Amino acid sequence: MPRHHPTNPQSYRYSYYNNRPVSAPKPHRKLHPIKLGLALAIILVGYNILSPKPSHAGNQRPKAPLYSKSQTVCLDPGHGGVDPGATSADGTIVERDINLQVALSVRQTLNSQGYQVFMTRTDNDAALTNGDRYDFCNSKKATVLVSIHHNVFSDDSVDYDTDLFYKPTDQGLATSIVNATSAKLNIQNNGVAQFDDGVLSESNMPAAVSEAFFITSSAEYNILTQSNSTRLDDEAQGIATGIINYLKDPKAADANVMPGAPVLTQGQD
Ligand SMILES: [Zn+2]
Repeated sequence: MPRHHPTNPQSYRYSYYNNRPVSAPKPHRKLHPIKLGLALAIILVGYNILSPKPSHAGNQRPKAPLYSKSQTVCLDPGHGGVDPGATSADGTIVERDINLQVALSVRQTLNSQGYQVFMTRTDNDAALTNGDRYDFCNSKKATVLVSIHHNVFSDDSVDYDTDLFYKPTDQGLATSIVNATSAKLNIQNNGVAQFDDGVLSESNMPAAVSEAFFITSSAEYNILTQSNSTRLDDEAQGIATGIINYLKDPKAADANVMPGAPVLTQGQD
């Protein structure tokens, strides 16, 4: 006979392993068929009330908004298609490509902060006119438009951050972006300059052109060609921060502009 075999059903059983009492098994009680049916009916009705319904046309629940913010951003990566824009001295870094790379990274950051983003192009094959760019952003009724470019100069020691604006309503946005981006990149902040690049004057919303650094700079080339360089992501973080700072308080950004911004007769690249 086993050592711990219960002598009767009401007695405590003891665990074989630790010798502590465990509760005695409850005797099985037979459920009356009608009670069982009633219980099942209650469960089924409850499940039907609580479970999500399959959606039918015209009977859909309102979907939660994908983006929490009402303000929207139209990003315009400069150049594209047959127009490469500026390049590094050896031709390996192409403005068309890094403009897009930065813009996609800005979009990711803005999306993660709840802002909806429209983009004039999402690949390097698209060849867009200036009219295509402002028409697209105007049609989306975006809150702001930001074109992303990189600068060019014959002297490879020249490197700084600047933003272009044209309309009086552009300057606060341009200033906010150049301040945040130059701080993030730890690069000289040359402020903003007034110039119509062909998109700024025709956009219905505050707009700016970011020229975060010179693609012709040898210092930038060395940073960009390091393995695991974060330069473009850092730039995107700066641009996104500048846009968000502006959107959170446009009046404060507009009040923060420096008077006497230079007027360019020839724009940046
Ligand atoms: Zn450009």
